Amino acid sequence: MPALFIDQNILKNNIEITKELAKDSQIIGVVKENGYGLGLCEYARLLVENGINILAVTDIDEAVALRKSGIHCDILMLTPLYQRAELECALANYIILCIASCEGGELAESIARELNTYARAHICIDTGFGRYGFPDNRLQDIIYTIHHMQHICVTGIYSHFYASACRKSQYTLEQFNRFTNLCDKLEEASIFTGFRHIAATCALLKYPETRLDAVRIGSAFLGRLPFPDQWGYKPAGMLEAAISDIHTLPAGHNIGYGHTYITRKKTTVAIVPAGYSHGLDVRRANPCPGIAHLPRHILHLLKNALFPEKLYGFHNRQAFPVLGRVGMNSVAVDITGANLSVGDVIRFPVNPIFVDSNIPRRYKL
Ligand SMILES: *Cc1c(COP(=O)(O)O)cnc(C)c1O
Repeated sequence: MPALFIDQNILKNNIEITKELAKDSQIIGVVKENGYGLGLCEYARLLVENGINILAVTDIDEAVALRKSGIHCDILMLTPLYQRAELECALANYIILCIASCEGGELAESIARELNTYARAHICIDTGFGRYGFPDNRLQDIIYTIHHMQHICVTGIYSHFYASACRKSQYTLEQFNRFTNLCDKLEEASIFTGFRHIAATCALLKYPETRLDAVRIGSAFLGRLPFPDQWGYKPAGMLEAAISDIHTLPAGHNIGYGHTYITRKKTTVAIVPAGYSHGLDVRRANPCPGIAHLPRHILHLLKNALFPEKLYGFHNRQAFPVLGRVGMNSVAVDITGANLSVGDVIRFPVNPIFVDSNIPRRYKL
């Protein structure tokens, strides 16, 4: 079986770069979805060891798994809980709740009171994302909720940008203004809301003025940015597997499905048992979001057709081109002239989020 190889030094490099950019703002390490594919608990431990002392998840099961694995730092829920069992679980595990509505506040308060326990919470504000949170114009609802929670102590308030990766800055700046205006109004009303946070990776990099008291970072730690890197981030995570077969094909021979590759000369081919079922060459579809975006979409398609992204496998530092299409569980690599044998490990760039969680994660110093 292939494995996801994770070079700790790359992660540490990305963490250090992020710390410098965050300056005095705290960093909340977002480890949702199996730690962006890096393996929830192992990745979280590495973050904690490297000075990240607040983690955030979107699923209560992940929060519990972190506690069970011996992680004692603050863990923040980024999604509200509305089920009694989940809230009880969060309270029992000292998870910082996300309160995103009056009902959510009332439910959390009533359960905490029943159990005679206390918890911390961050207030979630919707400044335009449209998923979670008190609408930013519902000041009275927010004040009412905070006043009526006697067992839930508000230690933070946050919102989330929806277009900070886009070229246009207007949405992001508008959201930022809405958020800070609301926070200021709460402060004027003598409502304590603790620390303010709104920026994730893109905003930290593009709009450093939005850092506030904390930034919530996921992608930057993995070195995966939606725009060209100018900070020195490196992508973390490579899919690795050992060569299972080597053979030589004559010129004019097909390789793989769909008749997409024909050898031009005698070619030595290594077969590596790694494929799209393991996340290799998997990427998100980029559907056209509407007529207004059509020209940009067509340009994008054209660019990909004319300059397709070539996939390489690596052994040590040497790159070997992938030949033909990536299969479900195997791929052919051109190793003509190289001194490689069956059993040698080949590594491929991959987005860890697409690597099935059953595939082992191998952390290397
Ligand atoms: C996922 C997530 C983040 C982290 O975003 P990145 O762009 O990966 O840094 C921050 N905040 C919220 C609410 C999220 O859901």
